[in-house]
Amino acid sequence: MNTNDCFYCTKDERLQGLMIKICDMPCATFYLFKDQRYTGRCVLAFNDHKEEFFELTQEERSIFSESTATCARVLKDLFHADKINYAVYGDLGSHFHVHLVPKFKDGPEWGGPFTDTNPKTLLTDEAYDARIQLIKDALANSSRTYVRLGA
Ligand SMILES: [Zn+2]
Repeated sequence: MNTNDCFYCTKDERLQGLMIKICDMPCATFYLFKDQRYTGRCVLAFNDHKEEFFELTQEERSIFSESTATCARVLKDLFHADKINYAVYGDLGSHFHVHLVPKFKDGPEWGGPFTDTNPKTLLTDEAYDARIQLIKDALANSSRTYVRLGA
């Protein structure tokens, strides 16, 4: 795929229609998915245009995996999810990215794969901003905890 055709590379209106940037992570960009049917649903996209996990260098895989773990832990704690679903597809948007989808025992599709075919749960701009700020604050607290544990 030409990277001009890839919305994770161009970051154009196709991407902006689906997700909102939360922050940069090591090797990756963290996005809040606009459809919040699954509260806290996010996407973590690798920064360079690589299509398969095995195309990343060993160091990139290591760093990206650590970013995935950090983001997933923050989402699970923040939204009190019973499980995080990690999904890597990319048939259409082949730029390597992981869907991080909090799942709840009393929520939609518990026990099965999450789906994009149900009615979307869209928020107001203010609610998106508030949710993004919550996640940013939790990430900041998370890194402070790491520093304390490492000291
Ligand atoms: Zn790309």
